[in-house]
Amino acid sequence: MSESPDKIERTEAEWRAQLTPEQYQILREKATERPFTGLLTQNHDTGDYHCAGCGALLFLSGAKFDSGCGWPSFMIPAESKAVVEHEDRTFGMRRVEVTCARCGGHLGHVFPDGPAPTGLRYCINSASLTFERAKQV
Ligand code: FE
Repeated sequence: MSESPDKIERTEAEWRAQLTPEQYQILREKATERPFTGLLTQNHDTGDYHCAGCGALLFLSGAKFDSGCGWPSFMIPAESKAVVEHEDRTFGMRRVEVTCARCGGHLGHVFPDGPAPTGLRYCINSASLTFERAKQV
């Protein structure tokens, strides 16, 4: 298995210098922002969602939906290779964690209760994302 050539590795000190304290806690220490607090939860604009750690394209606005859960929710990643899924058994639950494939940053979890056609809900911390509005044509 070859590693992705554009994989990004930084020391924890470098991440601390680059990220805000909240982004660091979520992306690097797997914290979760409080629900309904993220700036992008209610964002309905057309555009692309990128990793706040490394800038990788992660989700498209067309896959975003209002789940009511309090975090930005997507039916599918921009590309299947953009994210990596891991079993997470912390806090006495069995969940599937989602990380950025390029920098390893923690994004959130994916749950099997999303809308058709995928049936998935990628429940992503707003602080793990940056939004790039589509250019007007
Ligand atoms: Fe990343």
